[in-house]
Amino acid sequence: MPPVRCYDCGRSFPLAERKRCECGEPLWFGIGAFRWPAGRDPGMWRYADLLPAETPTGIAAAAGGTPLVRTPSLDVDGVRLFCKDEGRNPTGSFKDRGSAVALAYALEHGIGRVGTVSHGNMAMSTAATAAGTGIDCTVCVPADIPEERLSHIARYGPDIVRVEGDYGRLYEVSLDVEGIEFVNSDTPLRVAGQRTVAFEICEAFSPEVPDAIVLPVSSGGHLSAIWKALLELRAADLLDVPPRLYACQASACDPIVRAFEAGEREVSAITGGETIAYSIANADPPSGNRALAALRDTDGGAVSVSDEETRTAQHRLAREGGFRVEASSAVAHAGFERLVERGEIRPGERVVTILTGSGFKERDEVAVNARTVVLSDLRDSI
Ligand SMILES: *Cc1c(COP(=O)(O)O)cnc(C)c1O
Ligand SMILES: [Zn+2]
Repeated sequence: MPPVRCYDCGRSFPLAERKRCECGEPLWFGIGAFRWPAGRDPGMWRYADLLPAETPTGIAAAAGGTPLVRTPSLDVDGVRLFCKDEGRNPTGSFKDRGSAVALAYALEHGIGRVGTVSHGNMAMSTAATAAGTGIDCTVCVPADIPEERLSHIARYGPDIVRVEGDYGRLYEVSLDVEGIEFVNSDTPLRVAGQRTVAFEICEAFSPEVPDAIVLPVSSGGHLSAIWKALLELRAADLLDVPPRLYACQASACDPIVRAFEAGEREVSAITGGETIAYSIANADPPSGNRALAALRDTDGGAVSVSDEETRTAQHRLAREGGFRVEASSAVAHAGFERLVERGEIRPGERVVTILTGSGFKERDEVAVNARTVVLSDLRDSI
């Protein structure tokens, strides 16, 4: 097993020893040799040679390989949009890519129980993938989690622990729990799996590249993973100019956007407010600094949007694109529209937005406008 390295200070450690560097920054597997794969494994396991686990069976094998949809109906001002539909993963979000690698790794290394700290998609994804792999799973949720969200997680039968106390601290404390392999949002195994989305996007455009990739950001784990994939492609001389990476957040909880706009190198924790985009409301993101480095390195940017803009974007994605996404993903589309308006994304460019999660698991609140007609009058009345 290759060691894990710090992107910032370069120190490396065995994976089993640490998940964060002595300097406090998150770790990832080192930048290895990259080649486009010839393999025929399904979905993300097409890149099995680049992953720290063998191709598994069961639900873990079904992650990734999601559609990249060219969507002219959602283009803005001559910018050509492509939507990467991560809602098509087994539990409806990109988290399945990280869970797949984590569980495949656990199986290979005789780890009997995995854990995660999440109140949403990552909990569902980890529990489902563990179930399909025959490995036990512990999910730590905040004590005040809504019942409805808890039942989506409970469906897969994990051990659920409601934790009272600071949710940000819980992330750190969990990594030191003995006997459970915690795979939180930006841990090395999860980042290794999540980076396959960028391989898929770049391979679809190869030998060209999209001009920009726009995504919603919370912990910064997903953005870090995409950056890592781009660094690997660059190191292999397969990318001259990487796509610019843009982070989108809800204005009620946007610590990464604030730090980027202030030109900081470090993200400071904020007191976040309520937002409909609850999947991305991390006020103290563990990979915030690494996310900032990704934005700077790719000459990208950051943008926050209001819940109102998110609702409009969610509506537009459904009515003009046919995508049913959760609010957090709509933040990326709202951010995309804003970036075009600000001139940071220009006419003629090709842009990929990552629709990170499906909306099918949420109750819908759209106003229904339906008429009733009598069958015998149908022909004349519709
Ligand atoms: C987890 C999640 C995000 C944010 O990803 P991070 O890696 O925490 O930045 C965005 N959208 C959806 C749907 C998610 O589940
Ligand atoms: Zn370090």
